[in-house]
Amino acid sequence: MQVVFGGTFDPVHNGHLRVLEQVLDQTGAGHALLVPAAAPNLRPAPVAPPAARLEMLETAVAGDPRLAVSDLELRRPGVSYTIDTLGALEELDPGPDRAILLGADAARSIPRWDRAAELLRRADFIVINRSGCPGVSLGELLALGFPAERTTVLAVSSPPVSAREVRRRVSAGERIDQLVPEAVRRIIERDGLYRKPAPRA
Ligand code: ATP
Repeated sequence: MQVVFGGTFDPVHNGHLRVLEQVLDQTGAGHALLVPAAAPNLRPAPVAPPAARLEMLETAVAGDPRLAVSDLELRRPGVSYTIDTLGALEELDPGPDRAILLGADAARSIPRWDRAAELLRRADFIVINRSGCPGVSLGELLALGFPAERTTVLAVSSPPVSAREVRRRVSAGERIDQLVPEAVRRIIERDGLYRKPAPRA
């Protein structure tokens, strides 16, 4: 099975990577595909340019053969909708079973997603409850329209890192070496990313 993990990855951080490791271990899925959004639907535009977010992701997954990155949302003009991404992935490679990985917060927001009913009809889902964040129960997910037979809820522990905190620290001149892989930290430093306080940093 292939796990599809979307996000802004602005930047990718250790929380993303730890959660993926645990999801792959717990589900026995062979692979995860990380899909950075060009223009997310329900949140502000990312701070770092698409090419930089892609490079950071590719660098972060380089040591793990189970992880890969797709730039298909970055190449698609306009807002990035998961239902379009699922269709594009199925067209590119109809082979593997796929599951969309969602944090509990993202799962709760599903009624606001574009063509949510179609997505809920077509996709398999893995919803993660992570330590320190308000979780979601299977009952709640079913009430939101998630399909009982195609939804798995997993509990994972992951460091309480957020991309927002990484950006805040960089703009404040603080260290981020515990929050992101070293190679990602070097790209942030090399390109001077996140140095200016961003509106949502
Ligand atoms: P921001 O701080 O900018 O809101 P983020 O750190 O939440 O960003 P995203 O790229 O938006 O990063 O996240 C993609 C997915 O990763 C989301 O589903 C989110 O729930 C999950 N995620 C974010 N931080 C962590 C973490 N520390 N551990 C596990 N999952 C995380």
